[in-house]
Amino acid sequence: MVRVRFAPSPTGALHIGGVRTALFNYLFAKKHGGEFLLRIEDTDQNRYVEGAEKYIIDSLNWCGIPYDEGVGKEGKHAPYRQSERKEIYKKYADELLEKGWAYYAFDTAQELDDYRKKYEAEGKTFIYNWSNRQQLKNSLALTKEEVQKRIEIGEEFVIRFKMPNDEVLKMNDLIRGEVTVDTKTLDDKVLFKSDGMPTYHLANIVDDHLMEISHVIRGEEWLPSMPLHVLLYRAFGWEAPQFAHLPLILKPVGNGKLSKRDGIKLGFPVFPMDWQEENGMLKGFRGEGYFPEALVNFLALLGWNPGNDEEIFSLQQLTELFDLERVHKAGARFNIEKAQWFNHQYLQKKSNIELAREFEKILSEKNISRPIEIIEKVVALIKERATFVSDFWELGNYFFQKPEKYDEKALKKQWKEDTNVILSEVAEIINHTTDFSSSVLEENVKKYISEKGYGFGQVMPPLRLALVGEMKGAHIFDIMEVIGKEETLSRLSAILKENK
Ligand code: GLU
Repeated sequence: MVRVRFAPSPTGALHIGGVRTALFNYLFAKKHGGEFLLRIEDTDQNRYVEGAEKYIIDSLNWCGIPYDEGVGKEGKHAPYRQSERKEIYKKYADELLEKGWAYYAFDTAQELDDYRKKYEAEGKTFIYNWSNRQQLKNSLALTKEEVQKRIEIGEEFVIRFKMPNDEVLKMNDLIRGEVTVDTKTLDDKVLFKSDGMPTYHLANIVDDHLMEISHVIRGEEWLPSMPLHVLLYRAFGWEAPQFAHLPLILKPVGNGKLSKRDGIKLGFPVFPMDWQEENGMLKGFRGEGYFPEALVNFLALLGWNPGNDEEIFSLQQLTELFDLERVHKAGARFNIEKAQWFNHQYLQKKSNIELAREFEKILSEKNISRPIEIIEKVVALIKERATFVSDFWELGNYFFQKPEKYDEKALKKQWKEDTNVILSEVAEIINHTTDFSSSVLEENVKKYISEKGYGFGQVMPPLRLALVGEMKGAHIFDIMEVIGKEETLSRLSAILKENK
């Protein structure tokens, strides 16, 4: 049975890298008919941020990445919030102590800091491990009685993992293949803190085991923790899950991981939804007008490829195609233009009526109200050029309001001596057109142009200026049909009046 989990820590807004991790877990689970869990890893109380858990859940909901079990969907392994599982972990730390895989350490933060400084002064790095643990204040160096005494009088301690010093550990990663580490280079990580809480490492392993997780799929930043985790499974005598470390999402240019700062500096979202921070608002894809399906499709291709050139995939299709073997080892460069391209594609696929309903909201904020059929027609005429629903106003405002002014340069160029006469005659033709449809209007006006022996350039550009105010916009006769006879004639007479 495939069981995977997304295990974020609620330390702030969930970065889109986290959303991608959740997505890949979801896809992998569904591909194999398995289950996807959400576990909240909130054992580090110093980093806990109010509202972050809700943000994570809301983001997954908005993206349409549902979990089968987790906070709010309590299943057989509830609770799914580590702070509510506090009592569980101590006994596992004790088990490691008993088995000799862990030990008590009494070194104070100040003492450790002094060591760090001392080592630094000698050009070395302080690593708490086999090389110095016998000289430090722990249950491996002190006598049993001494240890007992310290615990009895309530001296603070942590529990550390006793990292072997003589093993070349060979591990397998489903994306990276064999990963080898010499345990001599690793430190004796703290598993249990003086505040009675487990650290991430202990809680993570215990919970993955108890929750029957078969595959750990997570970001590359956790790769350095893999040796400790593998050894913890060994120490407990548990079968380890399989590991897969996903490639980093890289900055659009330069080196390094895509950060919150990049988004702020370059003006694009790196979070699924808006998030209010003390010193400002972080922009989210939702607030910027992205469709969740577009974001999901974009994220799916950040570090994975389907093995062909196709790019547009629904969640269902992704579920069928997804494969950890096609996840890349190398980092995936973030490119906001690509995200926009996806949104454009998804916008084209939406029905006009659905888009019209969204556009209607924007119009109503501007106190503009029109029958939905009219808005739908407008959407049909302008959507091809839109990336976001919010582009509709910029692309189609002239359907709803008269030009406030006429593009001066264009007017100068297009308004000739005979333009007044021509446009007055065209107005007549329009006035006499009873079937006010784009094709009939076009036929009538074109007939007039050819009968008079005019060139299109004498008629169409000033006509466009009259209706739109500038030399852009939809097909001119489509505009007339949508705005209707009265409005068309009124715009014609307005420009004629201004350019007598
Ligand atoms: N709590 C860790 C995080 O915030 C989970 C890492 C893991 O998946 O093991 O990403």
